[in-house]
Amino acid sequence: MQNYPIFVNLQNQPCLVVGAGPVALRKIRLMRSAGAKITVIAPEMCDDLEQEFINDIDYLQREFTDDDIHGYRLITAATSAPEVNQRVSELAQAANIPVNVVDQPELCSFITPSIVDRSPVVIAISTGGGAPVLARLLRAKLEALIPASYGKLASSMAAYRDKLKNKLPEERDRRLFWERVVQGPIAELFFSGRNQEANTVLEEELEALSTEQAKIGEVWLIGAGPGDPDLLTFRALRLMQQADVVLHDRLVSDEILNLTRRDADRIYVGKKRADHAVPQGQINQLLVDLAKEGKNVVRLKGGDPFIFGRGGEEIELLSSNNIPFQIVPGITAASGCATYAGIPLTHRDHSQSCLFVTGHLKDGTVDLNWPLLATPNQTVVIYMGLIGLPVICQKLISHGVSADMPIALIQQGTTLNQRTFTGTLSTIEAKVANEKVQAPTLIIIGSVVALQDKLAWFEPQDQPPTEIS
Ligand code: SAH
Repeated sequence: MQNYPIFVNLQNQPCLVVGAGPVALRKIRLMRSAGAKITVIAPEMCDDLEQEFINDIDYLQREFTDDDIHGYRLITAATSAPEVNQRVSELAQAANIPVNVVDQPELCSFITPSIVDRSPVVIAISTGGGAPVLARLLRAKLEALIPASYGKLASSMAAYRDKLKNKLPEERDRRLFWERVVQGPIAELFFSGRNQEANTVLEEELEALSTEQAKIGEVWLIGAGPGDPDLLTFRALRLMQQADVVLHDRLVSDEILNLTRRDADRIYVGKKRADHAVPQGQINQLLVDLAKEGKNVVRLKGGDPFIFGRGGEEIELLSSNNIPFQIVPGITAASGCATYAGIPLTHRDHSQSCLFVTGHLKDGTVDLNWPLLATPNQTVVIYMGLIGLPVICQKLISHGVSADMPIALIQQGTTLNQRTFTGTLSTIEAKVANEKVQAPTLIIIGSVVALQDKLAWFEPQDQPPTEIS
């Protein structure tokens, strides 16, 4: 992070604005709405500023001099004279007073973000001063997304804070209460403008609370998709942000983990092929134990939890222990990788069905239903198949599939490290031999793979798709 975001209390604090044109006016409006006591120094003042604020500010009608710098909490320079702006910045920084020079990030010790104001909710957006247009675009999106009534909801929550603290001494219980409020009927009442009614219901719920909260937590088995955080579902994100604990494995990227609630504990239970960091039985038991401690547990899995994800096993134990759970589907690797590589899994001219199989080695052999895999007019997707690639190609050919059948290997699909290798059953092994292909890798076999030439669209960072024909 380039800058450290903070909100500063300026109520009755002396602040200096050097300059009195339209730009200074915009800053003064914001600072006044935050309660600042403003002194303006400028030889001339624009009409709008005069009309709007002349009775609210101390106006010193003259040029800025070096001695003016002292005694302020915050300084803003908004003059059209670069040398004055520069001087104000130097003096303020020498005196350790935070200074902002409008539109000159290099002279600033703090920058002012774009804001969405739903006071007391204020959302600040910054691009580090480098892309204000983008910040404004994001702001416009948020303005449209966040109902004006959020401010009312926040004020009401603030008003009942102490009362709730008395009722529920545990921080976690209070958080669960508020989470119910902001996602339930009370928030809806605020959003529809029925503030009085909303407050009444909130008060009733507070009265009805006993300190004996249900102590059992929930487990949310969540599919995190194949890698690109944009492919998470809204539901996944919402639950991830309510987690007390997150259990994750190797396939879940840091980018996605960073979207879980910041205070949540993270437990790595990673799995590599043939190397289970935490045995499956222990993971299942851990989920049960954590929920019994009253925690909301997010179990994050790559792709979809019910596709080669052992989701079923983890849920069985929860179910037999009467632990409440939810399951959130994710985009499975087959779908994510195929789409990002430009390979349609079905196509009217090529393939009328699609088979998902695992190529996991069992006793050193790939134990698959070869005649089924060799059926014409279908696409075969093989998960965990990298090690078995040579055997898979040989077996398919020996079961009647053409040695020229197209095949693709997609490494780390949907991420910025995605690499796509294409070839045929007879050529692919030699073609990737020196490529240091890394897990996770998905194999797609079928004539649809040839469409990739025309349909590839995703350009991972620094790594254009490797052309192997
Ligand atoms: N539940 C997961 C699959 C877990 S099995 C899902 O629905 O996607 C692990 C295998 O999935 C890996 O060996 C690899 O074959 C495949 N896989 C998962 N993510 C992948 C990715 N981003 N790129 C390529 N293959 C991936």
